[in-house]
Amino acid sequence: MKTFYIETFGCQMNAHDSEKVVGTLVHSGYTQVDTPESAGLVVYNTCSIRDKAEQKVFHRLDQFKRAAGKGKLFAVIGCVAQQEGERIFEKAPHVSLVAGSASYTKLPEMLVQLEAGNRRVTGLDLDTDETFDTPFTRRDNPHRAYITIIEGCDKACAYCVVPFTRGPERSRTSESVMREARDLAAAGYTEVQLLGQIVNSYRDPSPAGWDFATLLDRVGRIPGMRRVRFTTSHPRDFTKEIVQAIDENPALCNHVHLPVQSGSNSVLDRMRRLYTRDEYLRRIEWIKKSPRNISITTDIIVGFPGETEADFQSTLDLLDQVEYDSLFAFKYSPRPNTAALGMEDKVPEEEKTRRIMILLEKQRAIQIRRNSELIGAIEEVLVEGRNQALGQWIGRTSQNRTLNFTHSGPGGESLMGTYLPVQVTRAGPNSLVGESLPSVV
Ligand code: SAM
Ligand code: SF4
Repeated sequence: MKTFYIETFGCQMNAHDSEKVVGTLVHSGYTQVDTPESAGLVVYNTCSIRDKAEQKVFHRLDQFKRAAGKGKLFAVIGCVAQQEGERIFEKAPHVSLVAGSASYTKLPEMLVQLEAGNRRVTGLDLDTDETFDTPFTRRDNPHRAYITIIEGCDKACAYCVVPFTRGPERSRTSESVMREARDLAAAGYTEVQLLGQIVNSYRDPSPAGWDFATLLDRVGRIPGMRRVRFTTSHPRDFTKEIVQAIDENPALCNHVHLPVQSGSNSVLDRMRRLYTRDEYLRRIEWIKKSPRNISITTDIIVGFPGETEADFQSTLDLLDQVEYDSLFAFKYSPRPNTAALGMEDKVPEEEKTRRIMILLEKQRAIQIRRNSELIGAIEEVLVEGRNQALGQWIGRTSQNRTLNFTHSGPGGESLMGTYLPVQVTRAGPNSLVGESLPSVV
């Protein structure tokens, strides 16, 4: 029997790529198993966005070096595969397949080569206009599904490996996205998340020519679709029409993730982010003016080369001005091939640590304040899990907040995947606590 084990590192794009890779493997006659020990083929879908993510992969490969002698095969796919290419065969000679995401459409052929005994199979071509669409996707969640609408990235942020690891920007046709969304709704999925490294740069390549706001709206109008999310938006391509679509379509969630990276114009300029602080803030203003209570989240990098104390203070000041509902903060990590690699005035590691701690402390206070404002509010949640120990259900609000709640009505397993009104009774920095109300639906 042909068996495989897959481990996924990194972002939602990778998580969803793995769902498609799993589907492709199963369609090629493989059976998925739960441990690398019991698998004939071990697949690592890798991330190289920061140094640490990359190290994890080589650490994993080292752990299983000796197993290779016993006929076990290893595949490294995703961003580290694309970035390191055939060097992986030198670093980890027990690896037999190395493929980047731009080559996944060729996965069935690569598997045939592997099965024929080829121990140096590669898929590293970046020059493609194809996207990886497959009818065989094995989705991990029965209620919430990812849909990739655009792959790759044509921007050139000075710190970022994505344009080198995921290839050029290519959008799917609106027809193919709509077909997938309709099929998902028909199969009982009520929430979808549209995915792309720069999801809002979507451009329909078919004559219909839809822009992102149109696609978002149309997906939200599919019967049965209750929640539509999207990630990640680039501020430069974030239009007023996106906010208008959210205003007018209740199925579009009250949440925009809009990575700013820095509050300082000089850092933004050197990062090549293609917007100024004021231009970014104008977009925040559109979102805040919406009659919907749209939550706003972001990504920040601290310690980019040349970031001064004054630059860092500008970022802290931006946090006060925007009052984000949540954020991801990262210490700048030098990446191969990127423009920032050669920049001077590196910020020492201890200083990056100091800055990230100050930033997270400030954000924690903002989140406590913002979450507390929700005490007493009634939020609709999609029930996503159960915490047996606390006797609580785990729900997610439209604003993408976790709301843990107790439920005294009828329940059991049947609550999973349902939507319930929950009254917020307590608030912490990272989640809310509440009690379900008798459903009004
Ligand atoms: N495409 C998205 C955008 O333009 O905002 C983000 C993609 S990236 C997978 C997610 C986040 O990782 C970025 O927003 C950035 O904050 C962070 N990141 C990317 N490269 C980094 C680096 N070299 N060092 C530290 N953080 C990095
Ligand atoms: Fe990376 Fe910038 Fe492209 Fe986002 S927009 S994926 S940060 S290069």
